[in-house]
Amino acid sequence: MKYLLIVVLFFCVIIKLSAQKPALLKLKYEQNYTVTYNEAIEMFSLLDEHYDNAVLLEKGLTDCGKPLHLFVMNSEPEFNPEKIRQQGKTILLINNGIHAGEPEGIDASLEFADDVLRNKEGMAKLLEKTVIIIIPVYNIGGVLNRSAYNRSGQTTPYETGFRGNYANLDLNRDFTKCDSENARSFSRIFSEWNPDVFLDTHTTNGSEHQYSITYIQPSPALYPEGMEKYIRNELVPAMYSGMKKGKYELIPYVDYFYDDPKNGIASSPAGPRYSSGFAGLFHSYGMMTENQIYHHYYDRVKSCYQFIHVLAGFTAENGETIRKTRQDGIKESMAMTKYPVTFEIDTTQFRMIEFKGYEVAKEQISPVTGLPRLGYDLSKPYTAQVKYFDVYKKTEFVDVPEFYILPQNYREIIERLDMLNIRYSRLKSDSVISVTMDYIDDFTSPAKPYNGHFYHDKVTTHSENQQVQFYAGDLVIPVRQEKIKYLLEMFEPKATDSFFRWNFFDNVLDQREYFSSYGFEANALKYLNEHPEFRAKWEEKRKTDPEFAKNHRAQLAYIYNNTEWLEKTWKRYPVGKIFR
Ligand SMILES: [Zn+2]
Repeated sequence: MKYLLIVVLFFCVIIKLSAQKPALLKLKYEQNYTVTYNEAIEMFSLLDEHYDNAVLLEKGLTDCGKPLHLFVMNSEPEFNPEKIRQQGKTILLINNGIHAGEPEGIDASLEFADDVLRNKEGMAKLLEKTVIIIIPVYNIGGVLNRSAYNRSGQTTPYETGFRGNYANLDLNRDFTKCDSENARSFSRIFSEWNPDVFLDTHTTNGSEHQYSITYIQPSPALYPEGMEKYIRNELVPAMYSGMKKGKYELIPYVDYFYDDPKNGIASSPAGPRYSSGFAGLFHSYGMMTENQIYHHYYDRVKSCYQFIHVLAGFTAENGETIRKTRQDGIKESMAMTKYPVTFEIDTTQFRMIEFKGYEVAKEQISPVTGLPRLGYDLSKPYTAQVKYFDVYKKTEFVDVPEFYILPQNYREIIERLDMLNIRYSRLKSDSVISVTMDYIDDFTSPAKPYNGHFYHDKVTTHSENQQVQFYAGDLVIPVRQEKIKYLLEMFEPKATDSFFRWNFFDNVLDQREYFSSYGFEANALKYLNEHPEFRAKWEEKRKTDPEFAKNHRAQLAYIYNNTEWLEKTWKRYPVGKIFR
């Protein structure tokens, strides 16, 4: 009996070992070399040819005219997202090379895909209930723009791509404004695959410490309460503990260079312009890794690989809960009556975490200039308990309407709604509708453009109920649909990355009609004669305000600005809101 057991065990080991195939890919990150664009695509093509259960797809274009690829790994040759979802599988999307000089994820994903498909140490098990989809290179134009002089703070790999894409856009600010062809293709992929979990891989020069990899977690504040709890209590702790079991530990992304992390580390919520924040708009658990550039490229790739492995393992083990919390989160969002548009860090709430840093050296001598500089003393590593702030207060709310009415002239917005399969209908006839309209009272904009726009900040508004003329063909968008968070973030002018903030509605910000100091007089006089109450107010102001009394134009302006003469459309945000 004992002998039989040994024979059985022996054959089990043989079967297990034979199920592990040799690696197909030869990566050179150990020699500080990251793959070129062509090498990356050739390698994924090789995996596609070799394995039935993997495929490399072309999914739309990018700004440089080359297709955006999507590599799909399943346990069987089924690559239709709808069927995959029907089978109850969980979908994990990994995006790489959005900043092309930050290529760890490109190399790590290649090795990871190779290892999963060849079943290294039983890794094929990850695909039993999960489908892993990978964008090999997102910023193709940036990766093709390869040089040793692209990353001034980075010594390895020797050559990398460039941060901007072919259109010189920072693609990780482009997800809501969606200027690039890359972001359009991404929107379609996101809508088609609806990933449950999303990871975007990056590299940072923002800090110096003992960790090869740092983590920007899904921002709890950006999710409905149920998902917020799941992030805080399950997902994030699992990432830290999972990494701790391997060679590379994880630390939250450390924000300020030269600022001593001993004073505390704050998590900053990545808004929807960033990939992970954009994923959050669709109730997908969106996160980023940031490898630390001062570490050897080998450790950066390996730690990124380890993170992907931990995340894929967590997704595989908790698929059902992940999908359930998402579904509940969507329901929770669809029932909202108030929606938070602004956040502030809560400095009263923190937890202590272990941090392995280097002492800050205030007066190091620069080897370049011979002058004192701020830096870190690498001969003085320390381990300390530091405060970690990751609780955000919701500081301003808007009421959630039932419908938005969008005039049909906003074709660029309609195109974006269509890319994301947003549901809407169109008015069948010209109609005067009773709606709530927001007026933009104030905002600031930069003097120079930022990513191709004059982004508006510090937006203040007031609302008025009005009867407004809309026309046949204008859009009626029901807000309480699955993509409600996207709609609120994009259509509420105060929300951080709304269409208004990114200049899609600048056409309403200046006046079309005005008055001439000479030409307006006949109408002004007629108005005063026909409106004795208003005339009394105007006379009162002339009596009490001596400057006003002496100023001809100011007196006409008072009449113009405070009567029906003032155009209603000036600074009126043109999207009508209908409340229940
Ligand atoms: Zn980056």
